[in-house]
Amino acid sequence: MCISLCPTGILELSDELNMRIAYIPQVKEGKAKYCTGCRRCEYGCPDWCIYVLDEEEIKTKKAKT
Ligand code: SF4
Repeated sequence: MCISLCPTGILELSDELNMRIAYIPQVKEGKAKYCTGCRRCEYGCPDWCIYVLDEEEIKTKKAKT
């Protein structure tokens, strides 16, 4: 669902399966810079499977691990 909601078309299915035997979405190689941060993928997912982090949030998460 998130793949079809993304206005920039940067999401695709990965080869990785989740616990529900569904393929996990991923950002296409080298396309992350085209993400506008609109969060349509995040808000449109009924199962809260995907979320968007800005660069500061990513740095904070990395620092905590
Ligand atoms: S936040 Fe990024 S990946 Fe998600 S729908 Fe918007 S442009 Fe696509």
